[in-house]
Amino acid sequence: RAKAEGGRTHRFFTEELGAASRRRLALQFALQHAIDRRELAVHYQPRIALGSRHIVGLEALLRWTHPDLGPIPPVDFIPLAEESGLIEQLGLWVLQEAVRQTAAWIARLERPLAVSVNVSAKQLANPRFIQDVLDTLRQHALPPDCLELEVTESSLMHDMKLSRRVLGELRAHGIKLSVDDFGTGYSSLSYLREFPLDCLKLDRSFLGKNLDTDKKQHRLAAAIIELAHTLDLRVVAEGVETTEHLAFLEKTDCEEIQGFLFCRPLPPDLLASILEDGTCSAGS
Ligand code: C2E
Ligand code: MG
Ligand code: MG
Ligand code: MG
Repeated sequence: RAKAEGGRTHRFFTEELGAASRRRLALQFALQHAIDRRELAVHYQPRIALGSRHIVGLEALLRWTHPDLGPIPPVDFIPLAEESGLIEQLGLWVLQEAVRQTAAWIARLERPLAVSVNVSAKQLANPRFIQDVLDTLRQHALPPDCLELEVTESSLMHDMKLSRRVLGELRAHGIKLSVDDFGTGYSSLSYLREFPLDCLKLDRSFLGKNLDTDKKQHRLAAAIIELAHTLDLRVVAEGVETTEHLAFLEKTDCEEIQGFLFCRPLPPDLLASILEDGTCSAGS
């Protein structure tokens, strides 16, 4: 009887695994055609100055709507794109789209606006990457300091020598650089000194959900913000969801905030009037 149960559990388990890997394969395959089939879009989430509530920049976030399965979250398809190498093509598409859109907004608003684009380790390692970035900026006449590239901690550490060289060249051209999701990897702040960075994005896990354990996380976050400033890095807090998060951040010297409390990532048409206004308030 126990044996029969075990057998059933085993079969159940492999069938589950089978379904999951079939889905992954199907997604990976479908993603190859997503650009051509116009299934991709870029949404934008404001970065807001903590003091003034002015929108200082936008983060470009890739969205994919599969024709049958509907919207697929980036956490499900970005890793697949990284595994298959397709991320290089997708990343370039996002960059071109974000730079084009931002240049168009700047022309309409007649004031500066910066856009942040996420870049994966595979893109950094591509010898054509720097030239692609410069060509894209030139094509849309976007000033280099209006573009910020976000690289995760683990991408930076993946090949430190390469990261240092590529980031150094990008920065020499005036492009801004951020370390994304800081605090989720294994690097220490002293490692960050090794890279030519402008900004640290504090991972949203530091803001926390549970009020009991939050205290420690908050103290840690406050310490990271202080240390980042000693390295001359601007700090953006990610995942500001609640008024408690905001109240905590207001006690720190964090420069910018980003999160659902102020604005969700939105498609360009829905962002137009918010950009026109130029500010975001909590709960709006
Ligand atoms: P990320 O770069 O850290 O982007 C921020 C993520 O946090 C976004 O998730 C955003 O929607 C979400 N977020 C913003 N505010 C809040 C909040 O208040 N609460 C919570 N819970 N989440 C918030 P999204 O769009 O699902 O993207 C997830 C990740 O996928 C990104 O994390 C980034 O690592 C990756 N990704 C997205 N677009 C691209 C892309 O074009 N290229 C690459 N390489 N990666 C991308
Ligand atoms: Mg990011
Ligand atoms: Mg992040
Ligand atoms: Mg994140």
